Amino acid sequence: MLRTHTCGTLRIEHINQTVTLCGWVQKSRDLGGMTFVDLRDRYGITQLAFNMDTNADLCLQARKLGREYVVRATGLVKERESKNSQMATGDIEIVVTAFDILNESVTPPFTIEENTDGGDDLRMKYRYLDLRRASVRANLQLRHKVAQQTRTFLDAQDFIEVETPVLIKSTPEGARDFVVPSRMNPGEFYALPQSPQTFKQLLMVSGFDRYYQIVKCFRDEDLRADRQPEFTQIDCEMSFVEQEDILNMFEGLVKHLFKQVKGIEINNLPRMTYADAMKFYGSDKPDTRFDMKFVELNEVVKGKNFPVFDNAELVVGICAKGCADYTRKQLDELTDFVKRPQIGATGLVYARVQADGTIKSSVDKFYDETALKLWVEAFNAQPGDLILLLAGQADKTRKALNELRLEMGTRLGLRDKNKFSCLWVIDFPLLEFNEEENRFFAMHHPFTSPKPEDIELLNDSNKIGHVRANAYDMVINGVEVGGGSVRIFNRDLQARMFEILGFTKEEAQHQFGFLMNAFEYGAPPHAGIAFGFDRLCSLFGGADSIRDFIAFPKNNSGRDVMIDAPSTIDEKQMNELNIKTIL
Ligand code: ASP
Repeated sequence: MLRTHTCGTLRIEHINQTVTLCGWVQKSRDLGGMTFVDLRDRYGITQLAFNMDTNADLCLQARKLGREYVVRATGLVKERESKNSQMATGDIEIVVTAFDILNESVTPPFTIEENTDGGDDLRMKYRYLDLRRASVRANLQLRHKVAQQTRTFLDAQDFIEVETPVLIKSTPEGARDFVVPSRMNPGEFYALPQSPQTFKQLLMVSGFDRYYQIVKCFRDEDLRADRQPEFTQIDCEMSFVEQEDILNMFEGLVKHLFKQVKGIEINNLPRMTYADAMKFYGSDKPDTRFDMKFVELNEVVKGKNFPVFDNAELVVGICAKGCADYTRKQLDELTDFVKRPQIGATGLVYARVQADGTIKSSVDKFYDETALKLWVEAFNAQPGDLILLLAGQADKTRKALNELRLEMGTRLGLRDKNKFSCLWVIDFPLLEFNEEENRFFAMHHPFTSPKPEDIELLNDSNKIGHVRANAYDMVINGVEVGGGSVRIFNRDLQARMFEILGFTKEEAQHQFGFLMNAFEYGAPPHAGIAFGFDRLCSLFGGADSIRDFIAFPKNNSGRDVMIDAPSTIDEKQMNELNIKTIL
């Protein structure tokens, strides 16, 4: 080993020991008689001291060290005269007796400090330098710990980790596939897995009754801030279980992770049906760190000649505690917020419950004090509260109000990143209708089992949309961190499902025959779940973006700007792959 210790280990008890450290020059300070160099490695920073009086040669050499030079230094651990309580090693310094430069560095394009002067693009281009910064490094250490603890927990529960292939077959369901041309099979392509779904189900048929894998998945979707084309899942499957068993097992995993990674004990997860989540929060991933539940007011507000409400399918609102003193300007801001095209409301109606109990609304023309009192009752609003209402087509209005609720939660400081609120959302619909394609799609995926008591409804075209699935999501702080379902394990039901999804018999056989055939050889009842590993890490890290928890992420256009990928390939490679050049 080139070193005896790391830059994060030395403390007062090491005084008078001779040590050798290796690391990068964070910065150096030349104070005339003394030169100090901060040496950094993965573990921390240690101060090196060079004394002009006792060792002028060494001191002069040290003065020439540039930022990010790689240095090895040997010296005596000494108690510092002026200690630095901000640093773990701040009680000591190394009085250097010998050092050598292991490698030089050109001036880095940005400062490798917490408050770096490097913008996003520059830091991504030089990601290997960005990864030297303490916070980014800490994120990867946290990620490692989450992975490690996941394995510890699942291993203790008899799960085994099995690797499934990365070159698989493209299927039309779900998101868009990334495809890989096959040189040996001209004109044919592999696809990269969007998830190991079918393979983990086949492993259940094989009898591996508890499987997991921390696995890369690929989806060629338009990117949003919190999406990456390749991402990692904790993918799990179990046999001989019911939904309840899965919920309990993976609630256990999440509790274990909170305890081990964050030192937090979390309570049993409450469960909310999809129907309630939509009714009370307008979202299938409600942020339950705060209340502010929706209240529907159709019955209360109709019949007062206010056409906006009279013509609306749904009038629904929230009560923002203590916001009655919002100024005209603040209310205009909220109105502009809900009218933004992404949110799409046509307007916002408000009612202030004033300190003396009187009510002042934006629709006083139509609603007198008595009428408004009914609003206040419906919300159980108190003096000082602000009622905010939206109206229109039911689904759209709920979605818009969800955005407004989150915005109010943020404004009121109710979305603290260090507070965690977890729940299960259950009883998702099996299918959702897609207007554009005029057909049903599987809400989770085509392998999800309908609830046995709803199977009958599959034969009634009017009721098919009401069939509920044994499907569940785990939601933490308004983020869907995991989702899964009880699976179909019967060939006929699986075939029926494909038929409902618009597959011909031949198409279903061609695409998924391998799975349906396997179901004929003694498939056990099974169910599973997958967690978004990157998201879970960013949540534990108190961050919004998953990008900082991935060592080498892609940018918003799906590019790796460091290695410059994707990139063109040369003619010869194209020919080998039987791909015609696009001119
Ligand atoms: N494979 C599913 C997904 O990636 C999760 C599951 O059903 O286990 O969303």
